Amino acid sequence: MKKNFNINNLIRPSVKALKPYASARDEFKDFDKEMIFLDANENPYNNGVNRYPDPQQNKVKEIIFELKKVSTKNILLGNGSDEILDLIFRGFCEPNQDNVIILPPTYGMYEVLANVNAIEIIKVELTHDFQPKVNQILNVANDYSKILFLCSPNNPSGNSFDPIQVETLIKQFNGLVVIDEAYIDFSEQKSWLQRLEEFPNLIVTQTLSKAYGMAGIRLGICYASAEIISILKKIKPPYNVNELTQQKTMERLLKQNEVKKEIQNIKQQRDWMIEKLQSVDLISKIYPTDANFILVKVDDATKRYEQLIKQGIVVRNRTNQPLCHNCLRLTVGIPSENDILIKTLKKLA
Ligand SMILES: *Cc1c(COP(=O)(O)O)cnc(C)c1O
Repeated sequence: MKKNFNINNLIRPSVKALKPYASARDEFKDFDKEMIFLDANENPYNNGVNRYPDPQQNKVKEIIFELKKVSTKNILLGNGSDEILDLIFRGFCEPNQDNVIILPPTYGMYEVLANVNAIEIIKVELTHDFQPKVNQILNVANDYSKILFLCSPNNPSGNSFDPIQVETLIKQFNGLVVIDEAYIDFSEQKSWLQRLEEFPNLIVTQTLSKAYGMAGIRLGICYASAEIISILKKIKPPYNVNELTQQKTMERLLKQNEVKKEIQNIKQQRDWMIEKLQSVDLISKIYPTDANFILVKVDDATKRYEQLIKQGIVVRNRTNQPLCHNCLRLTVGIPSENDILIKTLKKLA
């Protein structure tokens, strides 16, 4: 247990003082009961979505509880994990005063959200094998460092962070540590979810956008202490997860076998691609990956990126990211797509 940790020292004063908006569906919660609902100015004619959705998404959270064994009071759902990350900024970071620490090269939204919210960014580059520089991170942190973002497996490098180093950071960093586990279902590493109770400053975010194959419905999941979750709940838009998303989420979560099979296939394809990429001449390095994409170093990333586009294949050019000079990020597709990618790469002159 972290010594002297008090969430009240991290929360923004305006949020601490905030009285949240009470929606119609918050004031009368039992909306499964046979009642006459004349409280929310909805159109009364049933078309499946004429009613506001459950603002607390309780049915979805019950299924997540069954699957992950995390109590519903430790769960917050968002319109994608991007919304959750934004809520974390707005709950804890005071504009023009606080800062957050990010570890480039990493997911671009942390920096965008910091800029939108007028929060200073302190960058500590990863090592050459894309691991956190623990001492440097702890040394640059100051009294105004509210959040440390760890993306593991990391986007765009694909590797997971060493759990021993992550644990040191969670224990010694005085603010919140957000571990973005967007790719955890492809990883050989354990989720930090299992250790949530040990660390009052830990926030784990996951998403249905990658392994669960539902980027189109926008559902992100945040796991943290009940204190942190209740702060984020105070500031979330009342109906942030729409009815269709809640329904599709429940359907998908209940089809674990289907999801697991797809993940298996993607991992098999990933390994197949790694093997084939080794005989592509213009590739000089294939970085180890624990996710559903592969970072490769080529001779000239921008040239190869544009050549691939002309052949009808879109990959991600990461050459402008720190430590990623001349790197392309390749998402694992279906077998026929991966096969075409490899054949096309081999033909490029
Ligand atoms: C894709 C991605 C996300 C996006 O999550 P959404 O739930 O689709 O908003 C979050 N974090 C990382 C690291 C990602 O690569």
